[in-house]
Amino acid sequence: MSRQTPTLLTPGPITASEAVLAAMAFDYNPGDVELLDMTRHIRSYVPAVGNASGTHVCVPLQGSSSFGIEASLLACVPADGKILVVSNGFYGLRACEAIEGVGRTAVAFEVPDFGLPDMRRLADAIDADPAITHVFVCHVETGSGAQNPVAEIGAVAKARGKGLIVDAIAAYGAVPLDIAAVDAEAVIVSPNKCFEGVPGMALPIIRRDVLAASKGRYGSFVLDLHARHEQYEQSGHWKFTPPTHVVAAVHTALKIHGAEGGQPARLAKYQRNWRRLVDGMRQLGISTLIPDEVASPIIATFHRPCDAKFDWATFHAGVKARGFWLFNGKLTTIPTFRIGCMGDLNENDVGRLVEAIADTLDAMGVRERAPRLIAAA
Ligand SMILES: *Cc1c(COP(=O)(O)O)cnc(C)c1O
Repeated sequence: MSRQTPTLLTPGPITASEAVLAAMAFDYNPGDVELLDMTRHIRSYVPAVGNASGTHVCVPLQGSSSFGIEASLLACVPADGKILVVSNGFYGLRACEAIEGVGRTAVAFEVPDFGLPDMRRLADAIDADPAITHVFVCHVETGSGAQNPVAEIGAVAKARGKGLIVDAIAAYGAVPLDIAAVDAEAVIVSPNKCFEGVPGMALPIIRRDVLAASKGRYGSFVLDLHARHEQYEQSGHWKFTPPTHVVAAVHTALKIHGAEGGQPARLAKYQRNWRRLVDGMRQLGISTLIPDEVASPIIATFHRPCDAKFDWATFHAGVKARGFWLFNGKLTTIPTFRIGCMGDLNENDVGRLVEAIADTLDAMGVRERAPRLIAAA
């Protein structure tokens, strides 16, 4: 098998390795020892990456990562709970929708201009509303690439007796997170971002005491993590039909993650990819949305050029025809585009991407590459 063209460069799903794709070319029997072994490996490996083996459990479930967010909210937050969401972009707003979706109350703590939250202001916001029971934060806000200081936010929450829920979907596996140290009630993880598996399951990590206390509070049959965990512990089996091909692929991806050096090695790879990408794009005259100090190396967000000849659909198609498939859409109000640094790719692949972008811009006649700052198409 050789790598498909165009190479996928979206911030999830990502370009999976040939070994991960090959793992899916087999029909497993859900109840047989091979699938149970792979499931056990996933359940033990994922919390260990975040130093949470002793304190937390991972409860895989079918669906995309948002299914893990909803299940975690039901596990952690009582029906009358109120969650302050540190929101610096698209996924913060989406978390508010998920919270309202499961019938809990969300209050957004808005962080302006794709920046990071001010801890004094955050503390004041929590103190001002005694009804708040939890604080929710995205470790990396994938809409802009901003990386939130989870340890600091967790400390502010903990000092006030509030539970912490972390959407680490985009970051986990590469960006370090000591789950035991921040004492999060739940951390939601994706198999198809920094772990470089495929989509199809969510990997919520729940604190053991929180999971124990959650029995009977779900109001949902399929999102009941307590019942699922009990079944995993008793028989090793998934509840409901397991995504067998996805289990095999994710198991393989985690094996590779470990063999390559785990979280530190994954981070170093993305840092090399990010550096090559951002330097190359700046040489083309394209600027980043957020300052480097705030940016996570898993993704970069760029301003669309102001030149009247720049048109997103033509650009996207031109880059795709040259072998690279970018995320089609923007998650900010001002015109931007995002390029993922995750996946089975190295800085040479990123170098070829930058060449493809340079060729496309030249072919389009895009000379003015300063940011287009008005919210037009
Ligand atoms: C990718 C991502 C999600 C997951 O969204 P799904 O559509 O459910 O896969 C959630 N939060 C963040 C920060 C993400 O990057």
